[in-house]
Amino acid sequence: MKNIKHQKNVLFGKNVGKLEKLDTKLNKKKILFVSPYSGKFAALSQFHAPPLGVMRVASYLNKKGHEAEYFDPNLHACNQKGPDLEQILKDTEWDIVGFSLLDETLLEDIKNIYLAKKIRPNALLVAGGVEAQFNYQQILDKTPCKIVILGEGEIPMLMIANDHNYNDIPGIVVKNPAKALSQELFNEATDSIPWETINYEDYWAVYKEMYGDEWNKEIEDSVNTIRVFSRNRCPIGCKYCSSTFQLTLATEGKVPVISQTEESLIHVIKRIKNAHKNVKMIYLTDDDFIINKRSVIRFCKLVVENKLNDLKFMAFSRITDLNEEVISWLKKANFVKLNIGVESFSERVLKEVGKRCPVEEIDPVLKLLKKYNIRPFMNIILTTPETKIEDVELTVDRTLEYIKDPFYMAGIIIGIQPLKGTIFYEEYTNFKSYITDIEGSSFKIRRDDYIWATDPKVKKLQKIYLETQADFIKNYIQENNIKHPNQAVLAPAHLILVKQIIEEIKNDTINLVTSSDQKSAEGEGRNFANSPLYNAYIDGQNITKKRSQNTARKFKGIKITTA
Ligand code: SF4
Repeated sequence: MKNIKHQKNVLFGKNVGKLEKLDTKLNKKKILFVSPYSGKFAALSQFHAPPLGVMRVASYLNKKGHEAEYFDPNLHACNQKGPDLEQILKDTEWDIVGFSLLDETLLEDIKNIYLAKKIRPNALLVAGGVEAQFNYQQILDKTPCKIVILGEGEIPMLMIANDHNYNDIPGIVVKNPAKALSQELFNEATDSIPWETINYEDYWAVYKEMYGDEWNKEIEDSVNTIRVFSRNRCPIGCKYCSSTFQLTLATEGKVPVISQTEESLIHVIKRIKNAHKNVKMIYLTDDDFIINKRSVIRFCKLVVENKLNDLKFMAFSRITDLNEEVISWLKKANFVKLNIGVESFSERVLKEVGKRCPVEEIDPVLKLLKKYNIRPFMNIILTTPETKIEDVELTVDRTLEYIKDPFYMAGIIIGIQPLKGTIFYEEYTNFKSYITDIEGSSFKIRRDDYIWATDPKVKKLQKIYLETQADFIKNYIQENNIKHPNQAVLAPAHLILVKQIIEEIKNDTINLVTSSDQKSAEGEGRNFANSPLYNAYIDGQNITKKRSQNTARKFKGIKITTA
């Protein structure tokens, strides 16, 4: 403890004995503060000095009766005097260890935080300083620190040391891990939804008006749908999806996949059917309803036994869930559609995104679904961070091949949106992003639209597509007199546009600009109020409304299908 005692004596000098005494009702805490660690760099590049920030907080806590010390790892790196941080952590049973973080020293500081967790697993770890304040979510999510201090540390650190309730302490952010619902609670919570009084009919009426004279039974079956969910999460862990990670990161532990029991699900469906006479379809919107084949077969049997198969059903599924036995049971229970994350017809891309689905399993399942007349809606992602132009072309061609048969439906997205909580968000930095104002505040916010592909040709494709998509889609909606421009209806347009761009890139008829600083419009390709694509939908639809009915719509040989 030589080094740390030396530092403490310098700080407190002869005044140590005159400090105010701690309120005797409170526990005196042993508190260690560690300043940012830049090794010898600070000493070499500047004029090295004692870390006044942590010294001030430590001295204030000592004055209030706690035993606070500080350690400057930079001084130790230079003079090697006294014990290092590891030894200091071992020598004293610290109640609290506080770290001051800077942007430039963040990685080294985080190493020190993990070292403290390893040696003093029961100590409360706290982070403060500029970097901790402005980056508190990462600090709380990715380090064992439980609290981040906002602004000056004296008041919150003293109140933490004095065991105040966290709710009463100003200037702290506390990570309080979530508790996942048990099976019993999951059933109870789902059952407590007031299914009988939800105003589904108001939602359906919007579409009846939208379709006007095109409204028919097929459309009514799609629209008069009630969504039910029965599972808490999906365990597969695809790299672009946050479903697997939301609960596990929130709870900081392993969360089992919890499912509503089949009986409880049947009970909910009966309530819905009794209360909403015009419901036509039940949509099981779990990320992967079919994941447990035995459970799904039991559910289908109960649907048949309870004569609920006068309703139609649809659900999310993975290709790998579906074999002939499962599909035949789905048919008996009157499943008519499955929403399937096919994503790509390229093995390379499926591996890249962690889909855990061999490409050769896709076609047999899609054909089996046709045999049983259960329509698949294929979710397709055209570009990923490492996609090559051949992968895109293969997926475009195969999807077009399928949707030429109106039995098959597809929903197309051009690329991966870097959603927080996904592996791709953590692994890539090259995002198509923009900064926008938050209306009604003085703040700005950064929005990340897509991950640019690393391959220059694919990046060019993404860019041209995003620039041209809004006009192309608007014209498509107008020319085809589309009342409800949903994903399935617009799929041919997206695919044909991408196909055209690929041809141009392959024939070298456009200039390949590979720099990443090309200017892009804000929110291109995203669908939120006033985004370029949103405005294309609205403009296209407004013109469509004024036109007469056109029931035999076709686009470049593809019949436009209804979702
Ligand atoms: S994309 Fe589908 S299969 Fe993959 S993790 Fe998300 S929900 Fe699960």
